[in-house]
Amino acid sequence: MFENMKPSIKCRSIYDMDLSELKSIGIRGLIFDIDNTLEPYAQEVPGDKLCQWLSELSAKGFRIAIVSNAKEARVERFCAGFPKSAFPLEVISVAQAGKPLEKGFKEACFRMGLEPGQTAMIGDQIFTDIWGGNRFGCMTILVKPIAPEKEPPFVRFKRFFEKIVL
Ligand SMILES: [Mg+2]
Repeated sequence: MFENMKPSIKCRSIYDMDLSELKSIGIRGLIFDIDNTLEPYAQEVPGDKLCQWLSELSAKGFRIAIVSNAKEARVERFCAGFPKSAFPLEVISVAQAGKPLEKGFKEACFRMGLEPGQTAMIGDQIFTDIWGGNRFGCMTILVKPIAPEKEPPFVRFKRFFEKIVL
């Protein structure tokens, strides 16, 4: 039970991911959640540390996609913060992805030109990011929420059930 909800690996934060390991097992695309994975909920644009790190990934040849359940305006504003000049390959973004449904993952993989098995979904929530990623056939990486104290009430509610699954 709950097998589909277990992440392939757990990391403290995105910055602790072992990228050479991911590359060695054939991962070519990284699909990120925004809220509490890349930056805290209230943060409208990516910070310098994040931009720098993602552009390094891009330079290493990883395709990068943002798949978020947030509204179009939020996702667009956030992704506009990635300077185009710093990314050899376009950052793909999918808003209102409806995770854990497959449509957002499907669109991201299609636009990256990759099979689900060549991608890793990185997120902070079991019932959207991990469950959805697993069902679609991505490798899944669960990170700790950056600022859990700023989470909306419905997310906090889900955290209770996440503890049961893990
Ligand atoms: Mg999140």
